[in-house]
Amino acid sequence: MIFTLYMKTVFFIADGMADLPCMELNGLTPLEAAKTPNMDLIAKKGISGLMDIIKPGTVPGSDVAHLALFGLDPYEYYTGRGPFEAAGLGLDVYPGDIAARVNFATRNADGIVIDRRAGRIREGTAELANLLDGLEIDGVKILFKAGSEHRSALILRGRGLSDRIQSNDPKKEGKPFYEVKALEDTDSAKKTVNIIKKLIKIAEEKFLSAEVNKRRVEANQLLANTLLIRGFGQAPHIPSFLQRTNMKSVCVAGGGLYKGVAALLGMDVIDVPGATGGVTSDIEMKVKYAIEALDSYDFVFLHIKGTDNYGHDGNALGKKEFIEKIDKVIEPLVKVCERGDLVVITSDHSTPCIAKDHTADPVPVIIAGGDVRIDDVTSFGERACAKGGNLRFKGIHLLSIILSAMGLGKKFGA
Ligand code: ZN
Ligand code: ZN
Repeated sequence: MIFTLYMKTVFFIADGMADLPCMELNGLTPLEAAKTPNMDLIAKKGISGLMDIIKPGTVPGSDVAHLALFGLDPYEYYTGRGPFEAAGLGLDVYPGDIAARVNFATRNADGIVIDRRAGRIREGTAELANLLDGLEIDGVKILFKAGSEHRSALILRGRGLSDRIQSNDPKKEGKPFYEVKALEDTDSAKKTVNIIKKLIKIAEEKFLSAEVNKRRVEANQLLANTLLIRGFGQAPHIPSFLQRTNMKSVCVAGGGLYKGVAALLGMDVIDVPGATGGVTSDIEMKVKYAIEALDSYDFVFLHIKGTDNYGHDGNALGKKEFIEKIDKVIEPLVKVCERGDLVVITSDHSTPCIAKDHTADPVPVIIAGGDVRIDDVTSFGERACAKGGNLRFKGIHLLSIILSAMGLGKKFGA
């Protein structure tokens, strides 16, 4: 059955925006300390609450968090980060593929990791990826694509493979590579290990004579002469967003992971010029593209990453100022909810500056527009939203709350 949609939704995630009180901000959180007239206005027009992304006390990674926020149980659908990263780079990931994240890296002759990022290599990585893309090893097809800087991803496509593989990445420079090992005693894991070892050997041979490395020798730069492979995952079969919601959806994001989650859900992905997935990303352009996308889509997923970066750096003032920058550029969202469409604003987890990492603290969430039951909350913040009409709920329920607010809730019983 196809519903006729009357409302549209902008679903805005500021990654890791939620925080804890900061000394530098006189005991306020960056979101509370920031001047955010637009988000406050949206809170005033909507229903606010607090959300435990996975469940109370569980610290979410961004990947599992986004699955939950799109209504999928991460315990069922999350198999590792590889498939999302690969999809985020534009590789076509099929259910059953084994995917992994890869760094171009530098090693010495004794098998020691000299630089995990090959001197933050910036150019020539597509040439390296092309040397491996399309290879066939032991009857298994290799797909390989370069991302930004040292990042890339690979897919193994074939029968009898496993994702229970230990990475060769020791996570530190100056250490020997870990051995690529099977983490389970199965033929498929052994076969996969052999293929990965052969792939690394082939890469090291081919990279030695690559033009990009000749240029790097001349420029006295570290060579990209090996691969660090991690985050193995077998691509899950994910029911499409369209199937589950009848909404035509699109993603506006800079970070590869978020584009990858969206692509695996069957969302269209818009590439925005200047969207880097970092603190210097052109967030004004992203909002412009998101608003334009409302003409052709029912559900627009807008993602901004920089808030999480400031949290990981422990930079409370920087995070507050970045939130103010976000607030300025999202002014068009006020109009979106004023004309009756739905605006949802939240984070995928807390990244408190004091912790410099993700924590289990629940995140504030506003849903505004349509006929939502407006509450008394008049500003967007962790403590303000705790007094809102949505009290406290789990991330996996957010999508059904949105569908219900759009008039698409399904009746249970007579
Ligand atoms: Zn995140
Ligand atoms: Zn993070």
